[in-house]
Amino acid sequence: NYTLGPSITRWNAKRRQWLSQNPGFPSRDARGNPRILLVTGSSPGPCDNPAGDHYLLKSTKNKIDYCRIHGIEIVHNMVHLDRELSGYWSKLPLLRRLMLSHPEVEWVWWMDSDALFTDMGFEVPLSRYEGSNLVIHGYPELLNKQRSWVALNTGSFLLRNCQWSMELLDAWAPMGPKGRVREAAGKVLTASLTGRPAFEADDQSALIHLLLTEKERWMEKVYVENEYYLHGFWAGLVDKYEEMMEKHHPGLGDERWPFITHFVGCKPCGSYGDYPVEQCLTGMERAFNFADNQVLRLYGFRHRSLTNPKVKPVANRTASPLQNKEASLKMDAKIET
Ligand code: UDP
Ligand code: MN
Repeated sequence: NYTLGPSITRWNAKRRQWLSQNPGFPSRDARGNPRILLVTGSSPGPCDNPAGDHYLLKSTKNKIDYCRIHGIEIVHNMVHLDRELSGYWSKLPLLRRLMLSHPEVEWVWWMDSDALFTDMGFEVPLSRYEGSNLVIHGYPELLNKQRSWVALNTGSFLLRNCQWSMELLDAWAPMGPKGRVREAAGKVLTASLTGRPAFEADDQSALIHLLLTEKERWMEKVYVENEYYLHGFWAGLVDKYEEMMEKHHPGLGDERWPFITHFVGCKPCGSYGDYPVEQCLTGMERAFNFADNQVLRLYGFRHRSLTNPKVKPVANRTASPLQNKEASLKMDAKIET
């Protein structure tokens, strides 16, 4: 039977002891907020499609920008720590390893390489999650009533560094080993969940299946978030950015100014996506520039358009660039005509 490694016990007590012995590594950041580690990753080898590597770089730049602005640390992983758990499953052993190696981190935040921050001013409302250990975007109705395979999205979620999370990862992993196990588990998941096409077991379906079959065990500590886009499906968002810029401003995080735009079903790096690769790449370019404008504004520039890598100075450039950065991020971002 497959395991992620020797089972971890009493992690809360061990972590607490480590923190008290290592005051130089506090679990809160300089602003007093719980320390967050953003974790992303991409495959060990180059993309099949060279443009994919360019978009991976843009996506990583986007994450670095968000994390710098908000005091979050970032890891980009490019290896498979466990050869059985390749591809989308690789986040499981990675998150486990990072929690154990970084007791100072309170939350690890997984974010797919095909997800971009599109609200550079929004911050996750951590105080809402004080009693929770897993924060994930989704819809309780879709989960509990419909057993939908897209009820939750594992492209962006937060996991608290605690014993509960170690046990969740242990319970989540067994469908992951590539080959016969993953293939057989795929059949179980397709039979169990609504709308799921026939394919090998994926981490998202496996999590939904686990939470439905062991509701009592886990759900009390799972926060299903949908008040803002911790994950936002790209297709309904990427064509509306200009309209958002006319009417709204960063800092809202919801459909008015989506926190994260996730290119689900696009595989710009690999070969088999559900959408035409050109449509995906254009969408990513738009999402990237939409976000980049919010960063460039801090320096007095903006892209000429959402599809143009060239920039121009913004009209109301200030002589005192050290004005409140947050305020400047949330300033009305109306398009100049
Ligand atoms: N991933 C990784 N290493 C790999 C393959 C994937 O770290 O070898 C990460 C990557 O960030 C990717 C995520 O796992 O966005 C999900 O995998 P995939 O792209 O296959 O699924 P999708 O995002 O299309 O649902
Ligand atoms: Mn994804």
